[in-house]
Amino acid sequence: DTPVVSVRDLRVYYGTPKGPARAVDRVSLDIRAGETLGVVGESGSGKSTLGRGILGLLPEGTGLAGEVLYQGQNLVGLPKDELRKMRGPELGLIFQEPMTRLNPLLRIQEHFEETLRQHHPKLTKDEIRKRALNALGRTGIPPTRYKQYPHEFSGGMRQRIMIALALVLEPTLLIADEPTTALDVIVEAQIIRLLADLKRTSGTAVMLITHNLGIVAEACDRVAVMYGGKIVEEGNARQVFADPQHPYTRELLASTIALETRELHTIPGVPPSLITPPPGCLFHPRCPDAMKICAALAPPEEHLEGRRRVQCWRHAAPGGIPAGQDAPLE
Ligand code: ATP
Ligand code: MG
Repeated sequence: DTPVVSVRDLRVYYGTPKGPARAVDRVSLDIRAGETLGVVGESGSGKSTLGRGILGLLPEGTGLAGEVLYQGQNLVGLPKDELRKMRGPELGLIFQEPMTRLNPLLRIQEHFEETLRQHHPKLTKDEIRKRALNALGRTGIPPTRYKQYPHEFSGGMRQRIMIALALVLEPTLLIADEPTTALDVIVEAQIIRLLADLKRTSGTAVMLITHNLGIVAEACDRVAVMYGGKIVEEGNARQVFADPQHPYTRELLASTIALETRELHTIPGVPPSLITPPPGCLFHPRCPDAMKICAALAPPEEHLEGRRRVQCWRHAAPGGIPAGQDAPLE
């Protein structure tokens, strides 16, 4: 089956006074219908930039190159108003912060009417109400609150209303960037289950950006691990968590487990500069397994069994590392 979205060699460069920052650097990925891809990685690794890049929602002047193939059409370079038309019914998004805000002057009902009429002008008020109450119900907002104003809801409830507004259009591709960070754990679990249901009931392709590996384990089929703007490992979520192949993934998992057991395990060192990145593998200065070659050359991407891939010299094909270059890095 063909992917709903195929990202090829996507690059996003932010202009900064010190030069371009490569926040997303040659990222490729596919998401199929009914599939949920989790995107994880430390703060600053480029997760949100990737999500915004795919939807064409980057600040004016940001460098964008590569391809985002959505149903055969490249979204990179598409005129802004064409992209705007696709957002909502085709490309859905849920962001943690602003961008999409509730209007304090409008009732919840009016938000749904506006959203649905924009894309389905023929719907009657009754049909709109039915769809809206269904979407709200799925996020745990009772129908009795349909006529209320945003200020009458808690922050967590407003976030759920935002989610319902994205879901009501049944988008083909949904990108959710930390959608549950503001919510308590019970509501969070409910939303995560909802996103998991969505792919079954509507066949939506979902990209779920999160810090929380537990959420990925629960709700995602696949996981992409980002480091310094690159996907360093990608594969079936269960397989990646059970048997991580990239040292960074291993460290990331260890630090999560440590959080749960309250033991101290943080990844030593700091994330790389995106403006003046280190030579070779971006992770080599922090990598417990680094070899000489890692400090000199960027690793090739190796494809492993079962739609899995990893960018690490430890997986280079036999003979792929010149003699002596596999010695430990001092
Ligand atoms: P977090 O987990 O904290 O949300 P993230 O993985 O989503 O982090 P991004 O927000 O995509 O990371 O940021 C990637 C890099 O790009 C960071 O170094 C960030 O400082 C930089 N960056 C983000 N937005 C801009 C911008 N508008 N101008 C310049 N640099 C930016
Ligand atoms: Mg982010």
